Amino acid sequence: TKYVYDFADGNKDMKDLLGGKGANLAEMTNLGLPVPPGFTITTEACRAYLRDGRQPDELAEQVSEHLSALEQTMGKRLGQSDDPLLVSVRSGAKFSMPGMMETVLNVGLNDESVHGLAEQAGSGRFAWDSYRRLIQMFGKTVLGIDGDHFEDAIDAAKSAAGVENDVDLTEEHLRALVETFKQVVRDHADRDFPQEPREQMDMAVHAVFDSWNTERAVLYRRQERIPSDLGTAVNIVAMVFGNLGMDSGTGVAFTRDPASGAQGIYGDYLQNAQGEDVVAGIRNTVPLADLEKLDKKSYDELLGIMQTLEEHYLDLCDIEFTIERGKLWMLQTRVGKRTAGAAFRIALQLVDQGLIDMDEALSRVTGAQLAQLMFPQFDAKAKRKKIAKGMNASPGAAVGKVVFDSYTAVKWSRSGEDVILVRRETNPDDLNGMIAAKGILTSRGGKTSHAAVVARGMGKTCVCGAEALDVNTKQRVLRVRQGPHGHEETIEIHEGDVISIDGTSGDVFLGEVPVVDSPVARYFEDGTLSEDDDLVVAVDRIMRHADGARRMAVRANVDTAEDAARARRYGAQGIGLCRTEHMFLGERRELVERLILADTDAESEKMLAELLPLQREDFIGIFEAMDGLPVTIRLLDPPLHEFLPNITDLSVRVAVAEARGEKRENDLRMLQAVHKLHEQNPMLGLRGVRLGVVIPGLFQMQSRAILEAAAQRIKAGGVPRVEIMVPLVANVQEFETVKHDIADVAAEVRAETGTHLEFLVGTMIELPRAALTADQIAESAEFFSFGTNDLTQTTWGFSRDDVEAAFFSAYLEKGIFGISPFETIDAPGVGELVRIGAEKGRARRDGLKLGICGEHGGDPDSVHFFEKIGLDYVSCSPFRIPVARLEAGRSML
Ligand code: ADP
Ligand code: MG
Ligand code: MG
Repeated sequence: TKYVYDFADGNKDMKDLLGGKGANLAEMTNLGLPVPPGFTITTEACRAYLRDGRQPDELAEQVSEHLSALEQTMGKRLGQSDDPLLVSVRSGAKFSMPGMMETVLNVGLNDESVHGLAEQAGSGRFAWDSYRRLIQMFGKTVLGIDGDHFEDAIDAAKSAAGVENDVDLTEEHLRALVETFKQVVRDHADRDFPQEPREQMDMAVHAVFDSWNTERAVLYRRQERIPSDLGTAVNIVAMVFGNLGMDSGTGVAFTRDPASGAQGIYGDYLQNAQGEDVVAGIRNTVPLADLEKLDKKSYDELLGIMQTLEEHYLDLCDIEFTIERGKLWMLQTRVGKRTAGAAFRIALQLVDQGLIDMDEALSRVTGAQLAQLMFPQFDAKAKRKKIAKGMNASPGAAVGKVVFDSYTAVKWSRSGEDVILVRRETNPDDLNGMIAAKGILTSRGGKTSHAAVVARGMGKTCVCGAEALDVNTKQRVLRVRQGPHGHEETIEIHEGDVISIDGTSGDVFLGEVPVVDSPVARYFEDGTLSEDDDLVVAVDRIMRHADGARRMAVRANVDTAEDAARARRYGAQGIGLCRTEHMFLGERRELVERLILADTDAESEKMLAELLPLQREDFIGIFEAMDGLPVTIRLLDPPLHEFLPNITDLSVRVAVAEARGEKRENDLRMLQAVHKLHEQNPMLGLRGVRLGVVIPGLFQMQSRAILEAAAQRIKAGGVPRVEIMVPLVANVQEFETVKHDIADVAAEVRAETGTHLEFLVGTMIELPRAALTADQIAESAEFFSFGTNDLTQTTWGFSRDDVEAAFFSAYLEKGIFGISPFETIDAPGVGELVRIGAEKGRARRDGLKLGICGEHGGDPDSVHFFEKIGLDYVSCSPFRIPVARLEAGRSML
């Protein structure tokens, strides 16, 4: 096996094997850019090392070969005592994991070669500074010594010397510091700092391999959904020195502003420094533009290279570079991360520059980014006092009064207050408070903590793990230390004080920050397209392209005329799911209760007759809003007891009344009914089609209301396109029972209204049995809509309403699944049932219309899956429609 590649042997498409850093170093080398020579040890070697606990047999020799070639090129040997070749040993995985893994610089220095380096460079200070850096980095990274021991020693050296900055330490100081560092190594690693250069290098390589599995790297991968079995490559790069004096330095640059996308000179530069100093923020950097004054030649060369890279990668690139005594070296580049807004802007800018086409632009933005742009935002122009930053767990902008427990959250929100629930961390007991709150803020836990998972599930703004916050629930106070080092003050925030939290950035602000609609949301809401808002223009053009590209239609899950109209503005091409249970609530609840309590057929018919016109009105409005577009109406689905009072409350009321010697006839009757309807597993109980079978008249009433509404619309000149959907069907006979009833009603309505009504009767496929017998069901059903929420529940045996709080965070933390199957379709399990159902249904009925109406309809990954298996449309909540449109377009690329 070939485990080692020279930079000249690779290219940018070899990220799997060479990692991102290695692949791009190779690409730059082959572009003729000034990259210090070096080679890459593959991720495959890392995987073998991690699997077997030792490196593959051939590796040592391959490394030796490439090292000698490198030595030949450089004209010096690794660690050679009179003129040492030094190298960096750098991690670099396929996906960038910033700061997660390790790198060691200056490998090859030892007690002898430090003198050689001093001689060659003509600077003792430089050589000893490089040596102390090596021992420090090597000690920390390879030998696992706590970095504080070294930092403390530096601090001690500085105060002994009476200086403020590292750069003010002289050669003498640094020589002494090296001795101290070597002692730190002896004390804490139980060995001497290794003097043999190749041993240093091999140990560093293994440390980089091992750094794949550090706790923070594992956590990061889980959050970013990066597979855990990829491993990292290791890059061995000849050292170049930015710390050789004021004509040297190191910096980072972007070819465009990663926040706005604007082209320009963005970056930071630090004179007389090695790479890690920039990131560590040890000294203040200067803006990259200042380099022009410091070193015009290198500056011009750098700008030229940035141009070359943009034109080569056709995208925003970020760059690490070093200048050694006036000579520019490129140390890294990659296609840079950017904000959601910049992603859209940059994609369009590149199109307008003629660098990429619209398909490519579409591929470079995501539904998740679009969703981010649609959330309400804090007004960027408003004054604000930031007090902390946590993780951006669930996007949005929330303002409210601080409360410290669920009970208060519920109580205050009932009385009309907006509240932010602040907890150290949340647990299932906090659920009510989380629901009541506008936003959730925790001081502990990451993106997979309970708070984060539940908040995302609810679409609620959440910032978690804001560790600077000290949450004291007992004292009802939130403390945070603020201000510059040495001048900190403690801010105290009490229950009832207002804070603002930004779930998109993770920022926490004191007081109320004004919230504004996002311009992108406004654009979807009313088509407003202000030509000078380049973001909205970019979104508009990309959306048009996506709409032109996509095969699947996008429908909405809505059940009021108002939402239907909004969904249509957002681009919905019909309704995929109109639930009717909401139409049974509110003041109609009493009618429903009386229907359930009815003893005689006559009584229940009377109640149904009263409900009929109310339902009809609902449907007329919806058909009107969706005129000309298909509307799928689901007959009543939930178990009836959901419309009755809570069994415990009612029992208590009856018992109290009895104790007082009162007799409440109605409550007693109701209690009996509740008992009768009570189910251990209502999710698996009397609901959906089963209601239609058991309760005569209910589904007929609903169908009559639907069809009468349609007839009325036709008479008014409208074009209602009715699709009646029967929920929770498991076998075809169930479906046919209901379908016959509907046909009877339709015949009556046709005769009564004299209209020629056309409509479809179909079913939801939301039980495994329905998917598996879809061919039989398709004999009778005229369309299918996959109800992937119930299908996920019934396939996994998870109760959706309980699992999130009960054990999903543990499942996510343990990596049992990377994401909740309720969020993204579980392709091999639930998705396979959908695929089977679609295939069997279509085999039996040509052109059977297939859709999906679960939450997954608005989830990007799921949309791509539904495209792959050939569904006709996805249906989702109105706010997800733009996301679904975009992703349906992207799924064609
Ligand atoms: P990270 O992935 O954390 O950025 P890098 O491997 O890029 O780690 O290295 C850390 C720092 O050291 C960077 O600033 C980089 O530019 C610098 N560096 C790496 N290799 C060399 C080298 N051969 N010569 C000079 N500086 C280097
Ligand atoms: Mg880097
Ligand atoms: Mg269902």
